Amino acid sequence: MANTNKYTLIDGRKVASEIKKEIADRVAELKRNNKKLPHLAIILVGDDGGSTTYVDGKVKACKEVGFHYSLLRFADTISEERLLKHVDQINNDEDIDGFIVQLPLPPRISVERVTEKVLPEKDVDGFTNENFGSITSANPHIFPATPFGVMELLRRYNVDTNGKHCVVVGASRLVGAPLSMMLAEQGRATVTICHKYTKDLASHTRQADILLVAVGKPGLITGDMVKEGVVVIDIGTTRVEDTTKERGFSLKGDVDFDSVAPKCSMITPVPGGVGPMTIVSLLMNTLKAAEQNTR
Ligand code: NAP
Repeated sequence: MANTNKYTLIDGRKVASEIKKEIADRVAELKRNNKKLPHLAIILVGDDGGSTTYVDGKVKACKEVGFHYSLLRFADTISEERLLKHVDQINNDEDIDGFIVQLPLPPRISVERVTEKVLPEKDVDGFTNENFGSITSANPHIFPATPFGVMELLRRYNVDTNGKHCVVVGASRLVGAPLSMMLAEQGRATVTICHKYTKDLASHTRQADILLVAVGKPGLITGDMVKEGVVVIDIGTTRVEDTTKERGFSLKGDVDFDSVAPKCSMITPVPGGVGPMTIVSLLMNTLKAAEQNTR
């Protein structure tokens, strides 16, 4: 059936698979030239179902593009001290170019202490304070993965952020805050950041040329909160019970798609929008780390 919608659906799966193909081509070239192949290590603590699924996705992506990978699994009883020792070992392993510590960690373990222990040049999630700060430097190192994926999605759909008013809802350390900085720095946009304490959220979102939402509250943004022609990027992914699905849940974004989409020029779906781009950002960051790994 013909698509009669006036908006463009931003297809993160399609863009992600194009980028994976580009990375796989680069890996094939490295192989042909007998160069070392990129190596990603993943630390997984405990057996949380969500984390295991995310890690499976990352391992699958490594296989698809031809990266080497190492998966280090630890019981959730591991002490912080021991985990930090493993982080150190990976830091010192010359064959490993990039690594990630899958979050969340057990509450006894300090996420900040662990993520800060990762060498910035191997921090392909872009979580360290050094990589966060480098967003505003003349020569940024490694961009935080999810914001990087969002910026790449905008770029590949020719969404020009230069001089536009971007409104970011959600100001977390991992998503909203670095995304706002990247939109202002690399994207040259005028940026409004909204968070839990923002009064009259709709008065801000209605001004957005580009609205980017990373909160984790399904349906937070409704049709009356956006202007005609807006580009909407929905980063939120919340598992909601769904007995019609074999796995018992479905993923919901922060945007009420049915009321918002008809007013948009472009919009990301959930799932299939930003999600696939986050994994691909990890691959792009690992390739970059490998190409700079001269140790
Ligand atoms: P988070 O750490 O919980 O941060 C949520 C942010 O939203 C915080 O800044 C919070 O403010 C703010 N907030 C809470 N209620 C709000 C409201 N009513 N209005 C405006 N802002 C509000 O979560 P996160 O890690 O940033 O993730 C956000 C969402 O993105 C989640 O659904 C997560 O699953 C999803 N996510 C998706 C991907 C992907 O690849 N698609 C990657 C990462 C995250 P306070 O800090 O003041 O509470």
